[in-house]
Amino acid sequence: MDRIYWAPDLETSVPGSLHSLEESRLRQQLSWVLKHSPMYQEKFKGIDAETFKLSDLAKLPVTTKQEVRMSQELYPPLGGHACVDWKQIGRIHASSGTTGKPTLVGASARDREMWRDLVARCMWAMGCRPEHRAWVPLTFGWWIAGLSFYEGLQHLGAAVLPSGNNEPARTLSVLQITGADFAISTPSFITYLARLAQDELGLDPRSIGLKNIGLGGEPGAGLPDVRRQIQETWGAKVYDCMGTADFCTVIWSECECQDGMHFFGQGYIIPELLDPLTGEVIEAKKGVVGELLYTAIHRECTPLIRFKIGDLVEVVGDGTCDCGRTGIRISCVGRADDMLIVQGVNVYPSAVADVVSSFRPRTTGEIRIFADGAGPNVQPPVRIQVEYEPDAGELEALKLDIELAIRQKLVFRAHIEWVEKGALAAQGGMKRKLVERPKVSSQ
Ligand SMILES: [Zn+2]
Repeated sequence: MDRIYWAPDLETSVPGSLHSLEESRLRQQLSWVLKHSPMYQEKFKGIDAETFKLSDLAKLPVTTKQEVRMSQELYPPLGGHACVDWKQIGRIHASSGTTGKPTLVGASARDREMWRDLVARCMWAMGCRPEHRAWVPLTFGWWIAGLSFYEGLQHLGAAVLPSGNNEPARTLSVLQITGADFAISTPSFITYLARLAQDELGLDPRSIGLKNIGLGGEPGAGLPDVRRQIQETWGAKVYDCMGTADFCTVIWSECECQDGMHFFGQGYIIPELLDPLTGEVIEAKKGVVGELLYTAIHRECTPLIRFKIGDLVEVVGDGTCDCGRTGIRISCVGRADDMLIVQGVNVYPSAVADVVSSFRPRTTGEIRIFADGAGPNVQPPVRIQVEYEPDAGELEALKLDIELAIRQKLVFRAHIEWVEKGALAAQGGMKRKLVERPKVSSQ
């Protein structure tokens, strides 16, 4: 009989039942960093790891990306939180560096085992099985996504098709021969591949035979209209997922119910939610929006404790899911540093993209928002470029309809500017840029 979960004891655990496992691993992790990490020896002075209580976690100071960046200059190359020597380091990769210079992340052999297991838990929830052909159209470079999914899917037992992002036209023609049941990619890249297949190869993406597609790395799969479009184009079910290069490429993923992303890092990571304005820990219950914070509890090489990820998420479910998994389910609202404020109203670029996507097929769904400066404040009307389809019809009326929909759904005034199809679309990149800011002089 097919197993339903990769890690059933953890994925369906009764809420609270993992307390002793998490507390003992947290103590081990604190003891480890206090012994080996100059950064945490300084930060956690006076902490007794042996008797530390899980309930006191929120009393520890947070760690920020900026601290890690500065620490990597002080203690090159991995920073003052690195805890092992070169003999034990099996891999180094760079976090994608959405804001500022990329930071480096190291992994020991045990850390890589953790990654493989966590990726397998999530891919299993997305319907990938050992008999499946799992296609990985993701970069195999400093950004760890491609490599870690390759390793995790091998660990799961699937036949992996590691095409990367090279030679996409050749990849699509090879896939016509091999077929593929499962793919893991980003919304931008899978959309680019579909366009390439349709417009340049005369190939219907449905003919490849994908059943399930996992998409992460940027908002998209969790946006109803974007998801619908990708599902229809590929004839496959789309699963939203998210993680972070500092902990694991994928930590949250949807199940077959597609009703928010489950947490899969039990025993490896403890997540917390912070109020974005006050920075205080908030209870993760349905309807709450907060900034994610992670604590590693089973990490050797570069453990981070109470690390601010910068992702804002909404808790969309807090009871047992129809799939049987327990714990909260979330959707990604956007990155905290991507949020715009228009006359006191919080605006997430991905929400604007979803409103514009609802006008498909007259628009392509691609947008670019123009911000006034480096900060979150933008004065209305907010200038937004939108791609139109050649047969969109009367553009002036459509422009007014989109501006009205934005005003009604997102409560701010927009000024739509039309641009031709293809002007904004990701041309083979893994992620798309939704906000354009004025260039800052380097002087
Ligand atoms: Zn579920």
